[in-house]
Amino acid sequence: MGSMQQLTFVEAKKLEWREVNKPQLESGIDAIVKPIAVARCDLDYFIAVGKYRTPGPFAIGHEMSAVVTEVGDGVSDFQPGDRVIVPFQISCGVCINCQRGWTNACSEVSALAAYGLGTHPNGEYGGALSDYVRVPFADHMLVRLPDTLSAEAACGLSDNVADGFRTVSEGLRRFPGEPVLIVGGLAQSVGLYAVHAAVALGSRRVVYADFDSARLAMAEAAGAKTIQIDYAKTPVVEEEFLITVDASALASGLSFAMRSTSPCGYCTGVSGGTNAMTELPLNAAYLRGITYDVSRVHGRAVLPQVLAHACSGHLNPLAIVGRSTSFNEAAEAMFDPAPKVIFSREE
Ligand SMILES: [Zn+2]
Ligand SMILES: [Zn+2]
Repeated sequence: MGSMQQLTFVEAKKLEWREVNKPQLESGIDAIVKPIAVARCDLDYFIAVGKYRTPGPFAIGHEMSAVVTEVGDGVSDFQPGDRVIVPFQISCGVCINCQRGWTNACSEVSALAAYGLGTHPNGEYGGALSDYVRVPFADHMLVRLPDTLSAEAACGLSDNVADGFRTVSEGLRRFPGEPVLIVGGLAQSVGLYAVHAAVALGSRRVVYADFDSARLAMAEAAGAKTIQIDYAKTPVVEEEFLITVDASALASGLSFAMRSTSPCGYCTGVSGGTNAMTELPLNAAYLRGITYDVSRVHGRAVLPQVLAHACSGHLNPLAIVGRSTSFNEAAEAMFDPAPKVIFSREE
């Protein structure tokens, strides 16, 4: 069977490398891959520091590029040696939800089935900061990594990059070229990727609000006009937008985004907040007829679009990376406050 090293979230503020069983092919349509580049998701930081309460122990890390090392008899599109992107959510590609593009709600696996985010009724899928990972439904799940894109640039494409992208793509499809407001905060890289995506998708004016000066500087470098705001002080709305995004994960930030949405505008949220119940300015939304779209990203479904933008150079996932380091440093670097940390190792 063999064993391998796996970065394990034990409890708040405690990550350690543990020796665990190497994953095996469990079906003919599985593949085994070796992760070579991993991006720290915004959520990983909050899991590590203990602000997102998920009981350990479990394998941590879920945004990855990898090399295929083994495939089942029923896998036809991939073979050992292929460089791939592995979507973080598990999806089959065949069920009605997957066919509709709702790959975060695949009916073949348990709810929220994903790498690196804890256990599920049908087991744990392992984590990206491991020597090997099993990929079910490999022909559907895996996406080939083009030679023109580095493993580091590609590893976050199915999650935080896709999440930032989809927060503005639907609004800009409805209202092409319109200005966009992005309310940044705790979903720190998602908000910044939303800025990059809004610029790439042709918004004529991107405004980024945040309380954090480092993220404001990154948004400005990406082409946004920035406003420094203390959400806790109920900021006054000075401009309205047809397209708004809440990436703050704070009730006060969500309220600011919704109150800043023009009549009949489109507001997208990337978080359910940090509490079970979050207050919404629902009356303001009702009176203005605002559409509020809140969900987890459909990582596999959005991946081909963001991959195309990354390959064409319209969207650079590495633009906001504060630290690039090796897998060996991951147990410590998970706690780095930089908006984006990337881990890599040799193929
Ligand atoms: Zn994530
Ligand atoms: Zn499915």
